[in-house]
Amino acid sequence: MKKSKFMVQDYPELIKYFASVNPIHLFLYVLPVVLVISSVMNSYNMNFSVIFFLFGMIYWTFLEYLIHRYLYHSHFKNRIVNYFIGSFHLYHHANLKDHRVLNSGLLMILIVAPTVVAPFLLFLNLSQVLSIMLGLSSFYYIYECVHYLIHYREYRSGYMAYIQKYHMQHHQHSPNKNFGNTSHIWDLLLGTYDPKYKEYRMSLKVKESLITNSSKVFEGFQNNI
Ligand SMILES: [Zn+2]
Ligand SMILES: [Zn+2]
Repeated sequence: MKKSKFMVQDYPELIKYFASVNPIHLFLYVLPVVLVISSVMNSYNMNFSVIFFLFGMIYWTFLEYLIHRYLYHSHFKNRIVNYFIGSFHLYHHANLKDHRVLNSGLLMILIVAPTVVAPFLLFLNLSQVLSIMLGLSSFYYIYECVHYLIHYREYRSGYMAYIQKYHMQHHQHSPNKNFGNTSHIWDLLLGTYDPKYKEYRMSLKVKESLITNSSKVFEGFQNNI
């Protein structure tokens, strides 16, 4: 019987399927996918397409936006679905100090990536589709690294300072805006851009949640169950 708000709290052993501790862990999931695709392309003398690879990267930035906005932050009529889906991201919103969920896990790369690329087989050849898959997997990995680094330490300048303010504005003040995790482009195009992130100041509570400022491993998890 359900006891907590999110499934991951009642069944913590499930965490390994949809979350990972850091991008190094995640690399072990992404690397085999990239190696298998590359060796299939090699064995069948398929031509790698840079254009479709780049398209795959851009495609991921769009999916990153859609998944975050329409899946992770959605409230479904079915309570069990909310209980399950909430574990992917809303749990992260509610538990910034639980660094085990900063990255997604096995399910994303092994199920979501092939599912979103497969429809291209209807009008592209296999080498073009596999090039898209390589681009998508590569940028997916970059996206995961960016999210990990956002929660790693506080940044003063450059890209990381910009994207950290952007993402933390979403976390703290505008959960219905700023869904992009690597840029604000899709938010701008689709009407969910909140420019107030430019004035974002990190609160002490958020500073304490950053990996470099956490003196000990998150302990609240077990207590929450
Ligand atoms: Zn986050
Ligand atoms: Zn969110």
